[in-house]
Amino acid sequence: MPLPIDEPATEHCGACRACLDICPTQAIVAPYQVDARRCVSYLTIEHHGVIPEPLRPLLGNRIYGCDDCQLVCPWNRFARLTDEIDFKPRHGLNTEQLIAVFQWDEATF
Ligand code: SF4
Ligand code: SF4
Repeated sequence: MPLPIDEPATEHCGACRACLDICPTQAIVAPYQVDARRCVSYLTIEHHGVIPEPLRPLLGNRIYGCDDCQLVCPWNRFARLTDEIDFKPRHGLNTEQLIAVFQWDEATF
């Protein structure tokens, strides 16, 4: 059976452009348009090749995704926190060194 497809969201942005302004790589190239090739979430999770050199300095300390556009969106203050354990912060990773993370094998990841 095909999965249900969400209805397109209706427009409520008005004059807000907070997500366009906060995006560290200017991946939101126009209202309602994301250039995934510039998005940190895509580059650090789905993209299989190397991250293009010009974008690397813009990533900052983001090594697995980026939620800046979600964090800044005023509408998300109405979101409800999930009870899903997998989405809870895992503070045991806060002190891990990046070089050690690079050396993880698949099972450790
Ligand atoms: S997830 Fe980050 S990089 Fe991607 S569009 Fe949002 S703010 Fe930009
Ligand atoms: S931050 Fe939210 S409300 Fe503002 S432009 Fe982006 S999606 Fe629209």
